Amino acid sequence: MPPVGAVRMVELLLDAEAERGFSAHRPPGHHATPTRAMGFCLFNNVAVAARYAIDVRGLKRVAVFDWTSTTATAPTTSSTPRPRSCSSRFNESPLYPGSGAAGDAGSDDGEGFTVNLPVPPGTGDEAYRSLADHVVAPLLGEYRPQLVLISAGYDAHREDPLADCLVTEDGFAAMAATVRRAADSVGAPLGCVLEGGYALGALGRSVAATMAALVEGGGGSDPDKVPIEPIAEEARGRLSRWWAGLG
Ligand SMILES: [Zn+2]
Repeated sequence: MPPVGAVRMVELLLDAEAERGFSAHRPPGHHATPTRAMGFCLFNNVAVAARYAIDVRGLKRVAVFDWTSTTATAPTTSSTPRPRSCSSRFNESPLYPGSGAAGDAGSDDGEGFTVNLPVPPGTGDEAYRSLADHVVAPLLGEYRPQLVLISAGYDAHREDPLADCLVTEDGFAAMAATVRRAADSVGAPLGCVLEGGYALGALGRSVAATMAALVEGGGGSDPDKVPIEPIAEEARGRLSRWWAGLG
């Protein structure tokens, strides 16, 4: 795939010109609201791309998975009718911008389609991988999206100066492989949109590891071997109200 913006990437994915893509955007986008720039972000690239898929291409189900440390601005769920989009979002808590509480699941027809997965400072690969394998992947299997987008920011990396999580490039690669398997299992193309990440060496290595996991089928061990950590167990219980497969 040539260098592309987020909408062009989705266009290529939906036209079956690529199965997977990575849009290396700067500046990042996931905090921007429809009317205002926020948190280093001007335009919400992944949200615009998801809306393109829904409004222009007519998709009925788009999943967005945000593995950054900071909560995305609910990109698509609040303004699209159920169940056109579903977003699952990691966020270190407490951290900017202070939203993304576990109890916030969206409202009205969108209830249950916003899946917040807050993690405490110091969380590393094991818990992130456990949440990806035992919460995000089964959720994707149940939602059956026609397109999967990852808000791929790397501020949860252990070297990042702005956040306090301990994820390594291996952890990001494993999560990418997990999402790749989940997307493959429902026949959905998968695209990543670059978000934040403020330790540049770590950012470069993590993007490379993510791409390798998307392309080569590497980067993930047998999903059966990823233990269910308490944080994933708790999230499954909390979310099973909306997602029977997590019960
Ligand atoms: Zn962010």
